[in-house]
Amino acid sequence: MSHAANLQAILGDGATLITDPDITASYSHDQAPFAEHQPPFAVLLAKSAAEISIALKYANEHRISVVTRGAGSGLAGGANASNQSLVISLEKMNQIINIDQVNRIARVQAGVINLDLDNAVKEFGLAYLPDPASRDWSTLGGNAATNAGGMCCVKYGVTSAHVRAMQVVLASGEIIELGKETKKSVTTYDLLHLFVGSEGTLGIITELSLNLEFRPSPPATLIATFPSIEKAAAASTALLKLHPSMLEIIDQTTLRAVEAWHPLGFEVSGAVLIMQMDENKNLGDEALKICKDFTMIDGVFSEDPADTADLIRVRKLAYPALERMGATLLDDVALPISKIAEFVESVESLSKESGLVIGIFGHAGDGNMHPTIVHDHGDGVAAAKAKDVFEKIVAIAQSLGGTASGEHGIGTIKAHLIDDEISPTVMQLQRDVKRVFDPLNILNPGKKFLT
Ligand SMILES: Cc1cc2nc3c(=O)[nH]c(=O)nc-3n(C[C@H](O)[C@H](O)[C@H](O)COP(=O)(O)OP(=O)(O)OC[C@H]3O[C@@H](n4cnc5c(N)ncnc54)[C@H](O)[C@@H]3O)c2cc1C
Repeated sequence: MSHAANLQAILGDGATLITDPDITASYSHDQAPFAEHQPPFAVLLAKSAAEISIALKYANEHRISVVTRGAGSGLAGGANASNQSLVISLEKMNQIINIDQVNRIARVQAGVINLDLDNAVKEFGLAYLPDPASRDWSTLGGNAATNAGGMCCVKYGVTSAHVRAMQVVLASGEIIELGKETKKSVTTYDLLHLFVGSEGTLGIITELSLNLEFRPSPPATLIATFPSIEKAAAASTALLKLHPSMLEIIDQTTLRAVEAWHPLGFEVSGAVLIMQMDENKNLGDEALKICKDFTMIDGVFSEDPADTADLIRVRKLAYPALERMGATLLDDVALPISKIAEFVESVESLSKESGLVIGIFGHAGDGNMHPTIVHDHGDGVAAAKAKDVFEKIVAIAQSLGGTASGEHGIGTIKAHLIDDEISPTVMQLQRDVKRVFDPLNILNPGKKFLT
């Protein structure tokens, strides 16, 4: 019997195991544009940790590679399959199990969509804060597995700061609990956070206990233009003392792309900063003064929630405006905030050398930048050049003390790019950790780092 037939037999008739190639093809890849993938031999739409446990035990015994999938919104090829692999999708495990208002914690199945949790806790005056731009379709399990970030993370921290406990199915099929629902816990080594950002290589997260916060009040918004990205970046560092809940930077190339599509009436000769504050809203004058000290050309600060959407529109349009210009490759690197201007300068030189448009925008408050390379649709030579530029951008970030990924993850597209920033000893420790949890290397092999 085939592996698919065996799996169906041991899982029982109630299990949804898909082998129809038309459907398995749609589970073969995430949103990364150039990562390799093939349709998996089967897709299990898991309904419980128990089903996942049975499937993993079988896969481990037969050395079958297993790719865990949330919503497939990833940008690193982390959920990409091969024709030898079994995909386990968590999309059906989408129940919010419990909302504990007193301890401000929610227990969820890993397939719950990020925004669904936030919407569900609104009525209690609570919020689930980590806000990847994909929050209306990415899963909380996927967010934990990639340690997703977002705009409000400058103040509230990335996903790891919001995970208190989780249930995991190990490669062996054993189901374990990591962490505690208490606010503090130092009893053992922190295996919980080892799983946050592990990109499906150590185990399958099936449930999560997540922090809820009191819902912040609607933010005040500042938008300011500067003659250069250097000045905007320097101003952003100074603005951090006001505890912004968002602090974004947009370069001139991106600004021009937005302006060409939806004229916003901005001075496009420099760069733009957008800041939001959900506290200290009386500090608008101080914020504008800081910006003036850094040669702000023009600036607006508004406490009126009705203005918010208008003022942050330029940031929301940044990526779609670049996408209108051609095929895009969205990069993701993190660097010390003091190095943003130097980074942008080097990427601008790379753009001139390569002849490719590169728009740069990102989370200035935490140094997480998203240079986006644009090339002509259907032009194979330009696509290859763009891929080369994508890798050179990582090298620039690394040379400035930065890292290959700030929030999108390594997946397959950057697994060969990390050796330059990690010592051989640490890489060996990483491989040793992988071996402890997944001795036969069945979980997402070839992802995160080269084994
Ligand atoms: C338009 C757009 C905007 C985006 N904006 C952001 C952003 O602002 N910030 C950001 O951080 N990311 C962003 N992303 C990237 C992506 O949405 C995140 O990485 C997200 O966390 C992935 O969640 P997912 O459920 O889609 O996971 P998938 O894409 O399905 O999987 C991602 C990785 O996690 C693993 N995985 C998934 N679920 C589990 C699980 N339950 N247990 C173990 N491993 C698992 C997979 O194997 C894979 O390696 C964006 C993507 C798009 C397309």
